[in-house]
Amino acid sequence: MINELVKSVMEDVIKWRRHLHQIPELGNDLPETSAYVTEQLDELGVSYVKGVGIEHAIVATIEGGKGPGRTLALRADMDGLPVVEKTGLDFASTNGKMHACGHDAHTAVLLGVVKALNSIKDQLAGKVVFLFQPGEEISAGAEPMVKAGCLDGVDGVMGIHVGNISAEAEPGDALFSTGAMMACLDKWEMTVHGVGSHGAYPHGSRDPVVMGSHIVAALQEIISRELNPTDPGVITVGVFNGGSAYNVIPGSVYLEGTARAVNHETREFIAKRIGEVAESIAGAFRGSVDYNYTFGAPPVVNDEKFTLNVMESARKVLGEDKVKLMKAPVMGGEDFAYYLEEVPGTFVFLSTPLAIDREVFPHHNSRFALDEAYFDSGVALFLQATLDFLNQ
Ligand SMILES: [Zn+2]
Ligand SMILES: [Zn+2]
Repeated sequence: MINELVKSVMEDVIKWRRHLHQIPELGNDLPETSAYVTEQLDELGVSYVKGVGIEHAIVATIEGGKGPGRTLALRADMDGLPVVEKTGLDFASTNGKMHACGHDAHTAVLLGVVKALNSIKDQLAGKVVFLFQPGEEISAGAEPMVKAGCLDGVDGVMGIHVGNISAEAEPGDALFSTGAMMACLDKWEMTVHGVGSHGAYPHGSRDPVVMGSHIVAALQEIISRELNPTDPGVITVGVFNGGSAYNVIPGSVYLEGTARAVNHETREFIAKRIGEVAESIAGAFRGSVDYNYTFGAPPVVNDEKFTLNVMESARKVLGEDKVKLMKAPVMGGEDFAYYLEEVPGTFVFLSTPLAIDREVFPHHNSRFALDEAYFDSGVALFLQATLDFLNQ
């Protein structure tokens, strides 16, 4: 039954995906994208609410005809990136923005699942909620939707990410993790204050460039000497700004970067230690530091039991050899984490790489591309997992 159902929606899925690919929009500002999605929902006769926590968020619902039961939420993010597309595809974006992370596919695949489930809703008990989410790339979509109640009454949640996020997956593989899968998405910033002077008279200064340089090097010792080597963590300095002339020692420099970890204890530890190390080093050289750490999306941590069940569903439709367990988490982040903090669920990587000029490019690259031949696996996986969940 699943095969027939999947086949019956794939033509639409590809059509929807190609259209969405040509109208990428950014962050939480998705007027054209959300209008296109609601247009399809209207055509399918599926009810939805718009503006759940965010103006362009859409929550659609299908109630089973066989009475009450469990409720499963399925999520697709819908936003693109400020990248100029250079894939050369027929349906490439020309508006200066790009679906360079595959969220166009997530939206189209989920619409396909809506269409398929709607056609068999008389045979379902329980409810399926579809979360069409803006703002994933700016980590500002899931949290407001959760706060607005999109998971009220929901018993489980599931999401997919296409592309080539983990090198562990072969094309067409569904990659699972029964625990930590992705890292938190934190940001830190600091201003290192010294005293400026003429570049030829350094003894008149307290040089913040030198302090900042020691800080950059020392931050890596937090990772290599203070974390348990088996517990992953990242501190990256992405910005180091300061100075205005070759012969002037500036009064201050500015640094900012990201920090990643896959559990809350390590995350708290890194946040505290970046500040302590920077303040101590600046202090040693008679300077000071203003430091600020922003906790972004938490780590993506899947529920073990829920994940094992979805893996069982995946084996039914994809085959034993296409269903794999990740060996190690990836240090990228995902705001899907906010849903997983509320209800048990799982996030799945579906490997769908497409080479452009014989090379597979990474996510967020101007030549990132997806192989549409694997989209049916996404639809099948969502469908089988939903039927199994509602029947449990
Ligand atoms: Zn992305
Ligand atoms: Zn993404």
